[in-house]
Amino acid sequence: MILSTYNTIQSVFCCCCSMQKRQTRTEMSLEDGAGLMGNGSQYDRHPVYPSNRYQSSRSRRKPPPPPPPNEEEGDEMCVVAMYDFLAKEETDLTLCQGEEYTILHKQDQHWWKARDKYGKEGYIPSNYVTEKHNMEANEWYCKNLTRAKAEQLLQQEGKEGSFIVRDSSQQGCYTVSVYTKASSTTNKGDIRHYQIKQKGTGQYFLAEKHIFRSVPEVIYYHQHNAAGLVTRLRYPVGPMGKCVPATAGFSYEKWEVSPSELTTMKEIGSGQFGVVYLGKWRALFKVAIKTINEGSMSEEDFIEEAKVMTKLSHPKLVQLYGVCMKQRPICIITEFLENGCLLNFLRQKMGRLTKECLLAMCQDTCEGMEYLENNGFIHRDLAARNCLVSEKHVVKVCDFGMTRFVLDNEYISSTGSKFPVKWSPPEVFHYSKYSSKSDVWSYGVLMWEIFTEGRTPFENKSNPEVVDEITQGHRLYKPYLASRDVYQVMYSCWHEKPESRPSFAELLNSIKRIAEGEF
Ligand code: ADP
Repeated sequence: MILSTYNTIQSVFCCCCSMQKRQTRTEMSLEDGAGLMGNGSQYDRHPVYPSNRYQSSRSRRKPPPPPPPNEEEGDEMCVVAMYDFLAKEETDLTLCQGEEYTILHKQDQHWWKARDKYGKEGYIPSNYVTEKHNMEANEWYCKNLTRAKAEQLLQQEGKEGSFIVRDSSQQGCYTVSVYTKASSTTNKGDIRHYQIKQKGTGQYFLAEKHIFRSVPEVIYYHQHNAAGLVTRLRYPVGPMGKCVPATAGFSYEKWEVSPSELTTMKEIGSGQFGVVYLGKWRALFKVAIKTINEGSMSEEDFIEEAKVMTKLSHPKLVQLYGVCMKQRPICIITEFLENGCLLNFLRQKMGRLTKECLLAMCQDTCEGMEYLENNGFIHRDLAARNCLVSEKHVVKVCDFGMTRFVLDNEYISSTGSKFPVKWSPPEVFHYSKYSSKSDVWSYGVLMWEIFTEGRTPFENKSNPEVVDEITQGHRLYKPYLASRDVYQVMYSCWHEKPESRPSFAELLNSIKRIAEGEF
């Protein structure tokens, strides 16, 4: 009997929900073309979906080709719910995890019209379902999960036989990670990693004696028989049902929130615009309610943009649900994260976070930023103070694009006392030239904040001194907890020329490779 097992490391942190890159097909209807494109250069966004303008200028030149057959109408798609979803409006459809649904129409990227087995129809969030035959339909599968993150998740579960199936660092292969106390010398338990091997005939196995046609069959067998594994696979610890992702708005096209639907529970902080409260939407759904002091924000511009921003939806971004504007002060309603601001979290946990944990935080924020980069959306104020930490210690990027609506010169002007000079590249503090590459510079500083457990960059220096130092080519020092490879990644973000800095996609690759121990 051959078993393929490799490496056991222990770490403490958890990150679930790397679900965004599911391979379900998504489309944006042209009526929704405004989608993430918004309406102009003012916001430095670049269209990522086909533009109506482009199509109409083409059609002036020659008659349009016949429309392509409507895929959605003829070809209904069968999906499985990965999470429960409770219908919020009459037009929504409730989802039960594990149940099958038929997709009738993809309304936009985030909300689809679906039918359940009783014939009831309504809108569902597209990120809650997956195509029936996808690996994601299995409760034990976690896509895009590194070994370090799998270990964090299993350690947190801490039950004999808890397991996860994830993509192996070897492309096209899968790995089963299992938690056991049986052979552990410490109380913390051990994690074993077994690679699912494939025969030349295409069949799969964990133990060479027990060969199956598919990965689910292999897992099913080992759920009932250890057959050479350290324990049988007892408790699936997939992301399904554990860490339910936010939806893009409460419902399809619902981004305006009525004051009667909101209750405030307690004050949790105060920021640039006003006080932030923990509250409830319709008495059952925890949210953060940010009140906007009059005169602190260009409200009309923000309200216009909020429609677009609710459509930015990713597990590593703090979800904007909507705006309550029927009363003064207006309020912004967002996803609530139990562990608050990352900067405070790092400082409170100082000395108690492993390096793997710190790297996992960098990976989370890089995933959120890669999504913004892919959507041509610039953050403009990325820093640890603008990231939040969830109950399960997932770090999410917050306040993206919000500086565009601030009405405080001390904050907006690069010579103002509140301007984030220490997070800004030369082209920003000299010429206010923002881009995804200026976000990359800030991201390098965020990595530095994470690996120094919340220190202030250029601690004893004034803003003009920092401008001088950066202009002369000086950069932040290597944090004690950062390995050479980690420092190299953050340092690459501080190239003077924006075009020589890596993209977030490249940064994410480097971080994942470090997390897998490949450097
Ligand atoms: P600023 O505008 O200065 O960035 P914010 O208004 O975003 O600050 O938030 C102020 C504080 O309120 C944060 O530091 C954090 O502690 C808390 N907070 C804000 N939003 C949330 C949220 N969604 N979940 C939990 N805590 C939050």
